[in-house]
Amino acid sequence: MKAPRFSYHDPASLDEALDLLADHGDAARVLAGGQSLMPVLNFRLARPAHLVDLNRVEDLAAIAESGGGLTLGAMVRQRALERSEVVARRCPLICQALPLVGHPQIRNRGTLGGSLAHADPAAELPAVLVAVDASFVLRSKTAQRRVAADAFVTGQLSTVLQPDELLERVEVPVWPERTGSAIREVAMRTGDFALAGVATTLSLDAHGRVAAARIVCFGVADRPLRQPDAEASLMGGTPGEALLEEAGRIVSARLRSFDDIHASAGYRKRVSGVLTTRALTECVMAAT
Ligand SMILES: Cc1cc2nc3c(=O)[nH]c(=O)nc-3n(C[C@H](O)[C@H](O)[C@H](O)COP(=O)(O)OP(=O)(O)OC[C@H]3O[C@@H](n4cnc5c(N)ncnc54)[C@H](O)[C@@H]3O)c2cc1C
Repeated sequence: MKAPRFSYHDPASLDEALDLLADHGDAARVLAGGQSLMPVLNFRLARPAHLVDLNRVEDLAAIAESGGGLTLGAMVRQRALERSEVVARRCPLICQALPLVGHPQIRNRGTLGGSLAHADPAAELPAVLVAVDASFVLRSKTAQRRVAADAFVTGQLSTVLQPDELLERVEVPVWPERTGSAIREVAMRTGDFALAGVATTLSLDAHGRVAAARIVCFGVADRPLRQPDAEASLMGGTPGEALLEEAGRIVSARLRSFDDIHASAGYRKRVSGVLTTRALTECVMAAT
């Protein structure tokens, strides 16, 4: 099928793009890399009267170091993130995750902002940005607001974005000393969306005990899910096999998941626990 008719706009600046969104509201959709939006249009799952193409808005495509952290424009291509030396240094988890996102051709066009705004529950980047405690800057013609990555997704393919807003940039805080990160997933084939996945970060204090940990499951619910009980079980502990296995057991026990044609909830819970222990083990090796 072909996409329904729409008016195409290609603003050259952010202000121009925001004017268009303010004028057309609900009738407009933003076009980034088109890797998810074009199939949605071709299947006629959405029929926007206006497409606002962000590909000429250069201000949205920058990767910058800021105060020891990172500022990433929404239009940064996934492939650029994957290959960025700055991102590898300041937030290695992003570079670890990207080889799992589709295929190189998709990452060449797909953008950071597109993946976040699309909010597929099995996508890697939304979970990764929760794991690193990032915040998102949203802009409309009249206002700007900041939303924690953890509060951005409201359900399957849904976010807090309003029709006249776009995601402008992502801010990643300073990567703490002695921190390791890892992402593990199970998918039917390489490049497929995950049936279950886990993104983790873990920091050690000067005595080698766990000072902070985040465990975020994806592909198992309608949004990325932090695992607060498993995270709490790690705090202050010496990260040996017993501690990391216990965290995995807690994830398996507490996770609320779902059945579909690909896997049962029970399978997703079990696999998420195993992936958690493996990812945390990798974190500890990187942090020590
Ligand atoms: C075969 C295939 C396999 C894939 N596998 C994976 C995978 O394993 N893991 C994974 O995570 N992804 C996967 N993807 C999705 C891919 O990562 C897409 O690139 C991503 O979901 C959308 O990014 P995009 O830049 O192409 O956005 P688009 O398709 O252009 O837009 C997606 C949505 O986001 C909105 N949007 C885009 N940018 C903004 C913005 N700045 N502000 C507000 N709204 C915005 C659009 O209006 C649209 O609703 C796959 C895609 C394909 C085709």
